[in-house]
Amino acid sequence: MLDILRRIVQEVSAATDLSDALKVVVARIREAMATEVCSVYLYDPDSKRYVLMATEGLKQEAVGRVSLSSSQGLVGLVGSRAEPINVDNAPAHPKFHFLSETGEDPFLSFLGVPIIHHKRLMGVMVVQQRDSRQFDASEEAFLVTMSAQLAGVIAHAEATGNILEIPDTTEKKKSTRFTGAPGAPGVGLGQAFVITPAADLGAVIDKEAESIPEEIERFEKALEGARQEIRVLGKKLSSELRPEEMALFDVYLNMLDDQALGAEVRARIEEGNWAQGALRQVVMQYVGHFQMMEDVYLRERATDIIDLGTRILAHLQGWDEPPEEYDFPDNTILVSEELTPAMLGEVPPGKLRGLVSVRGSSNSHVAILARAMGIPTVMGVVDVPYAQLQGLEIIVDGYRGQIYSSPTDELRQQYQSIYDEEQALQKDLEGLRDQPAETTDGHRIPLWVNTGLITDAVRSLERGAEGVGLYRTEVPFMMKDRFPSESEQQQIYRQQLETFAPNPVTMRTLDIGGDKALTYFPINEANPFLGWRGIRVSLDHPEIFLVQIRAMMKASEGLNNLRIMLPMVTSVNEVDEALHLIYRAHAELVEDGRQIEMPQVGVMIEVPAAVYQIRELGSRVDFLSVGSNDLTQYLLAVDRNNPRVADLYQAFHPAVLNALRMIAESATAIGRPVSVCGELAGNPMGAVLLMAMGYDMLSMNATNLPKVKSVLRGVSREWAKHLLDDVMQIESAPVIAAMVQLSLEKAGFGRIIGPAARG
Ligand code: PEP
Ligand code: MG
Repeated sequence: MLDILRRIVQEVSAATDLSDALKVVVARIREAMATEVCSVYLYDPDSKRYVLMATEGLKQEAVGRVSLSSSQGLVGLVGSRAEPINVDNAPAHPKFHFLSETGEDPFLSFLGVPIIHHKRLMGVMVVQQRDSRQFDASEEAFLVTMSAQLAGVIAHAEATGNILEIPDTTEKKKSTRFTGAPGAPGVGLGQAFVITPAADLGAVIDKEAESIPEEIERFEKALEGARQEIRVLGKKLSSELRPEEMALFDVYLNMLDDQALGAEVRARIEEGNWAQGALRQVVMQYVGHFQMMEDVYLRERATDIIDLGTRILAHLQGWDEPPEEYDFPDNTILVSEELTPAMLGEVPPGKLRGLVSVRGSSNSHVAILARAMGIPTVMGVVDVPYAQLQGLEIIVDGYRGQIYSSPTDELRQQYQSIYDEEQALQKDLEGLRDQPAETTDGHRIPLWVNTGLITDAVRSLERGAEGVGLYRTEVPFMMKDRFPSESEQQQIYRQQLETFAPNPVTMRTLDIGGDKALTYFPINEANPFLGWRGIRVSLDHPEIFLVQIRAMMKASEGLNNLRIMLPMVTSVNEVDEALHLIYRAHAELVEDGRQIEMPQVGVMIEVPAAVYQIRELGSRVDFLSVGSNDLTQYLLAVDRNNPRVADLYQAFHPAVLNALRMIAESATAIGRPVSVCGELAGNPMGAVLLMAMGYDMLSMNATNLPKVKSVLRGVSREWAKHLLDDVMQIESAPVIAAMVQLSLEKAGFGRIIGPAARG
């Protein structure tokens, strides 16, 4: 069963559009279950009807024509109950609704299962049989499994714009709303610009070729480029491989032969698709064929074909659309299946108004960057037909995590006024720039910033940051296509250190792995967040670590405002090992005659194990800083980037707050300064609680700094401590969040947390 399932899924994934996919599904399921009818009804939310979209066994003329209201028939019952209905005599069921057009009268047995994606009902899948019998448990389980797979395919088809036109729907609504997760607060109005990643076959969209001969020429060049690459690769390996292994390269070259893949792609281009779209279609079709094969060796060819396809695509994209040729509108809303930090860099500063990503969540790195840059962002908009948005007017509501395409005039005016109000608030907050973050009863808590790009460093100063609590060094690493050299790093770090001198800059050593990937240093693991990440990578590669430490220290010469921070620490051994290398690097530089002060070294507390070793870790270093983003994810066992569990990622979870309070108390007890540099510190509601817990400093994105400062200056520490005491009695995260929000609103901060709170 599993094997059949796997093959159906692969075949479905290879289908070029949803209509083909549904046809494949119904045909294969009918065959696999040896039943007489298999049909798919999709739910059209506009007309609130189930429309028959594919069938094997009922009359084909009924497809697209026959529909049922949401309460009609057994199909309606499956949908409203959101559970399978399995009956041996359907016509005898009180809910049965006879559809004469389908020719279903002779079928007695009926098994219907809902198709649900992210709690949303997308349709109903039905199998029917002439004999009167109940489908057994394994058949029911099979259909439920298939429908869960199909739900993902339908959602993806919607997202890529390959969705079927559901007939009978009333005329399209003018404005369409899509919901995701809030990525960065704010409201952005502008024009969509859809961007595809460097070489990701799955993300390539179908597009009409502007000039067929030019597309063919592009493809030929790319094909030759890929061939050349394979030849070179083969040559390089020829001394290490045996002749029979070398034969693989001939296989590759044969696949790239003009008569094979090349000819098929060319034919698709001639039908009107652009080269990239044609390539994706052909490669996916090949992959489907290969994966269907019984022969293991042949099945493995699927991997080769994806590799080749990606190589050709990289050549196509390499010279086809170099980033500098993108013509971004002045008010760009950047849209992509999966936004990457590098993509942000492609839009000229000043033109970017908002970001929309189909994948990812508010904790993705790109969202963190967006918050730093103050760009309204919505992540994980899984249902948006992103490929169809190009050029459309879009509103990004980063508070609620929603976007609107082609908004109505009223909607546009409403959002324009929120935008104007935001700008006005920002102006008011600017007046706080040179004021300290001090509570009404005289408790001062320095506010620092998190940076990664030089742009946020500059913005931070404008907003009155007193230092850098977290400089994410992986960000400049992500912007390159290879490891930056020691002198390149030195230059980048010097810029940061100089910008803030004499204020301190906390540079975190490379924190790759988890969700932070370097294209040129891929780490493929089943559980990346529990794998080779942060300090673990650095200690396994002392050559990379030492280059980084030396570059940081050299950059700090004469400024002496450097602090070094170690990410993802889980044990004291890691700290000892890292300290050993740091001291060694320092001693060598001093030996070389450089006047460099030994920087302060700190440890990030972001893994539950570290929470219970504050004393041991703290006694080895100069400071501690809590990475509340990771700490929350590891405490709650919730992937910070997975939109499916985004609502379980609760920053105000009592367990998280208890851990945070315990860290502050333990650090204070051993006299080590402790700060928070996760997103919670930049949330005015979180900042008030952290201040009350006794944190010595908070580090946040520059956008939120004035808001946090304004709130902290408006409350007393006593008041915040009372609030904290009350909050710690509560057992539920949403209740805690609501209580803090209400208290701040009552204290007069509704305007500051207003739009965020509404979200
Ligand atoms: C954190 O985990 O809270 C943190 C500040 O680091 P990052 O988000 O870069 O993992
Ligand atoms: Mg972290």
